[in-house]
Amino acid sequence: MHRQNVGARAVHRQQEGERIRNSASLAQKFPELKALTVNLAYYNSDRVTKSTQFKYTVNLNNARSVFCFDCLNKECVRGDFDLSEELTNAVAAHRTTAAGEMSCQGWLSKDTIDTVHCHNILRYKLSLDYK
Ligand SMILES: [Zn+2]
Repeated sequence: MHRQNVGARAVHRQQEGERIRNSASLAQKFPELKALTVNLAYYNSDRVTKSTQFKYTVNLNNARSVFCFDCLNKECVRGDFDLSEELTNAVAAHRTTAAGEMSCQGWLSKDTIDTVHCHNILRYKLSLDYK
């Protein structure tokens, strides 16, 4: 009886994957956007231990407008960081930068569902350029 081990995490991943694939590209949703660079730093829930940091220029034609980043906790159930709203607000206001911090609202592992949240931290900075 290993079926259960596939579990909530895999189901969520699959559903999220579909939602993202089915969304419009960033170029379609934000035609006025010329360039977008994201700077991401992942921290553990203690907010001090940085696990990784990276920066990249988003390909607006390929990237989807459901603008999500995976939580780095491999055990995390239903967690990820959805920056769609931040991005939408930034473009609506024609801001050239937007920065903030998000805490993962997923569960720490499949053994702590409904008890312990993951609460990994993502600090993000978006740099936007307009046509
Ligand atoms: Zn998480």
